[in-house]
Amino acid sequence: MPGIQEVDVFMAGAGGGAYPAAFRLAQAGMTVVMADPKGVMSGNCLAEGCVPSKAVREIAHHRARQERFEKFGLTGTLGVDYARIVAHKDRVQRERYDQHALELAAQPKIRLVKGRARFIDAHTVAVEGDRGEDRYRARFILVASGSDISIPPIPGADRALTSRDLFALSPTLSALPASMGIIGGGYIGLETASMFRALGAEVTLFEQGPRVLSGMDEEMVRDLASLLDPSIRILTGVQVQEIRTVPGGEEVLYRMGGTGEIQRVSFSRVMVAAGRRPVIPEGLPAVGVEVGKRGIVVDTGMRTAIPHIFAAGDVNGLTPLFHAAVRQSLVAAHNILGGEVSLDSFDPGPVPTTIFTLPEAAYVGLVPETARKKGIPVIAGRYDFSEDSRAQILGETGGGITLLFEPGSLRLLGGTIVGVDAGNLVGEIGLALAGGLTARDLAGFADQHPMASEGIGKAARSLF
Ligand code: ADP
Repeated sequence: MPGIQEVDVFMAGAGGGAYPAAFRLAQAGMTVVMADPKGVMSGNCLAEGCVPSKAVREIAHHRARQERFEKFGLTGTLGVDYARIVAHKDRVQRERYDQHALELAAQPKIRLVKGRARFIDAHTVAVEGDRGEDRYRARFILVASGSDISIPPIPGADRALTSRDLFALSPTLSALPASMGIIGGGYIGLETASMFRALGAEVTLFEQGPRVLSGMDEEMVRDLASLLDPSIRILTGVQVQEIRTVPGGEEVLYRMGGTGEIQRVSFSRVMVAAGRRPVIPEGLPAVGVEVGKRGIVVDTGMRTAIPHIFAAGDVNGLTPLFHAAVRQSLVAAHNILGGEVSLDSFDPGPVPTTIFTLPEAAYVGLVPETARKKGIPVIAGRYDFSEDSRAQILGETGGGITLLFEPGSLRLLGGTIVGVDAGNLVGEIGLALAGGLTARDLAGFADQHPMASEGIGKAARSLF
């Protein structure tokens, strides 16, 4: 029987839901053990998600921009050497891993152990590592075991590429496929379709629902769809039946909505991007923590049904985004420090979401479709990028900013952006939302010219 090590806080996972809390609690004097089978800090975001995908995407963005400049008779088109793009991505990942290693080394109260956590009882956790099993007894536990790729039950889908094959360190996919079939029209599928098309691959996307980005504002999605590269073939209302290996590649068999006719099309490579599912550590439900359809059930303070066990990040399914995990992690840390008193709570309202297609789209808070469906009265302000100086400079004049305000008070309720710099603009709008600002506040702010953010003030001024 192994000895049990006493620790103030144990964390299952070392990603965005875990490490911000680890540092906050260590600063407050607590001892923290983080366990993660990766043996490194920062979870799936750095291992195979947000950071490496954007490292590739930015090169695709650069190329698309350069192609536009070429049309103005300026620079020539950037050549694509996919192996070098992968090397760039790997370099960024390594740089960040090195940085995190230094941060960890500088905080002696945090220990990162390599291994998967398994619950023995509500205070005791076993970690199976390379050198056998260690046990920890903790006053508090933070479950931040994240999410994993979900593979649909389609014959052959287990052999298809996933985002891991594209974005992990030294990834399986090291050459640009001539043609790519992507199964799933969520944000990962659409972002990948957009970046691989810009890099030169022929791309077809299969979505079973009536439109891509289901669940996101239909007006925003319609505007975005009209601005995507029209040579990306998007098939909606189709059910993929099977993925078969054929000479020179993979064949996708799919059923057409309506006629029910079966069609087949071949690609060099096929990728599945059909969603992610929470990873629930073994033994957790048995200790009394409630697990629902979306993941671990928590209150706004990130507390589970067991008061000393908290869950932050993708594992609770509330807002599966890295920056939301970081915020939730800090909320959990503050409430661990607060003991019986709840010191902090998580508000999903002002968490921004960006779809990093080319161009990008983003939203935060209340969006037009939700306002309409729920009968929430709003006043909308609008700014079109066709009149924006930065958009004109870059030749990216499609899309614009829509802001929703509460009638009377003119308090900002939310907004959508399609087009230039959307991923940056949504941050400013999210901050205004979190701060309870009104259309008058936004209209009175001397935002910078000639940056796309001046459109936020102009959208607000469109009301007066
Ligand atoms: P989040 O951003 O929600 O923290 P991530 O997916 O980035 O999510 O990080 C979660 C991390 O948790 C991953 O690195 C994963 O390897 C790790 N993990 C998954 N299951 C366990 C477990 N049972 N014990 C410890 N770590 C786990």
